[in-house]
Amino acid sequence: MTVAPHFSFKNETLHAEDVPLTTLARELGTPLYVYSRKALHDAWGAYSEAAKGRDVLVCFGMKANSNLAVLSEFHKLGSGFDIVSGGELARVLAVGGDPGKVVFSGVGKQAWEMRDALQAGVKCFNVESEAELELLAHVAAQMNKVAPVSLRVNPDVDAHTHPYISTGLKENKFGIAIEDAPAVYQRAAQLKSLEVVGVDCHIGSQITEVDPYLDALEKLLDLIDTLAAAGTHIKHLDLGGGIGIRYTDETPLTPKMLLDAVFERLEARGLGHLQIVLEPGRSLVGNAGVLLTQVQYLKHTEAKNFAIVDAAMNDLLRPTLYDAWHSVEQVGQAAENRPADAKTYDVVGPICESGDWLARDRKLDVQQGDLLAIMSAGAYAFTMASQYNTRPRPAEVMVDGSNYHVVRPRETLKSLFADEKPLP
Ligand SMILES: *Cc1c(COP(=O)(O)O)cnc(C)c1O
Repeated sequence: MTVAPHFSFKNETLHAEDVPLTTLARELGTPLYVYSRKALHDAWGAYSEAAKGRDVLVCFGMKANSNLAVLSEFHKLGSGFDIVSGGELARVLAVGGDPGKVVFSGVGKQAWEMRDALQAGVKCFNVESEAELELLAHVAAQMNKVAPVSLRVNPDVDAHTHPYISTGLKENKFGIAIEDAPAVYQRAAQLKSLEVVGVDCHIGSQITEVDPYLDALEKLLDLIDTLAAAGTHIKHLDLGGGIGIRYTDETPLTPKMLLDAVFERLEARGLGHLQIVLEPGRSLVGNAGVLLTQVQYLKHTEAKNFAIVDAAMNDLLRPTLYDAWHSVEQVGQAAENRPADAKTYDVVGPICESGDWLARDRKLDVQQGDLLAIMSAGAYAFTMASQYNTRPRPAEVMVDGSNYHVVRPRETLKSLFADEKPLP
């Protein structure tokens, strides 16, 4: 058993759906991001099942994985998108996504991004400060348009997750403090080029329990009551993304657990008419991908054993950025068949940084040339990748049953500096 059901062992070889990872390594090289189409569909299915019969819009938090092939699958399944930049909007439009199902989040939206989003006709701007509200009103007025807005409020709840991915606490840069929200809503209501349509929050990422969501929900429902009393009526409530995935042995809440609990509260408070918007990123793609890599060298020192692989922190930043755990599978040997006396290794890359590690203290039975799969690399892997050390970014491949499609080729060395030039 691996953490990801669509990546499993058959005949002692790890497969993506029905394709052996050894085949992909041989035909496409390593390092390589490998995605499973079925895993995307199944993850979507958990949301669509939970939403059945309810007014719910799921907007994929696309910064988790914005490859056009991934976006296009979700678009065809009916997903909207949560974008955080004008660049992400361009990707949505490139796959024929429906701007009417796009919500635009982010603390630093620029005027050109607002213009592009107004031109496209997005569903909502999730506004994160009073200054942004003023700029948006100005930009919309210049275009003779009315911008639909929610305020992203900061409900000051603890999501019990890593500090770098916790976003709903008072000290975070995100959102508008919930105590200040009524005054800012009042200001929004005065601006003719804005239409207040919703209330929004996003409290963090890799959340495993339902309670932080319900704490936030209670505060938002109180706010919605306050606003209604002042004559502002809200159409939708956006609870953000953040549902966690299994990286090792977590059992995170499911979309159904969340939506059952949310709709129970809504109905109890007479607010069953509200549309619920969700912005899941990681939980739709995280376990739909692995980073396939080959062991270049083994190095045994007094303190440590190192497996030096051809993937590095530039391909998967999460370990060094968040101290994140990714499970590591040997493509040719299931973990349960590992000898008891297997050595303990740090899996590290070739980059000139001590922070260049992918996994630490793992029992492995490896040889030079062996393939490893760094699991749960479908979210925040390629999208955070860089070309540090002039390393071309790996190819991305989508497996579909026993077929596969290269959805982004490996970058060539030449392309990395093709646009640079020395001074004349
Ligand atoms: C990153 C982000 C998401 C997606 O978060 P996940 O934890 O990947 O589900 C959703 N909404 C906003 C505003 C975000 O910044």
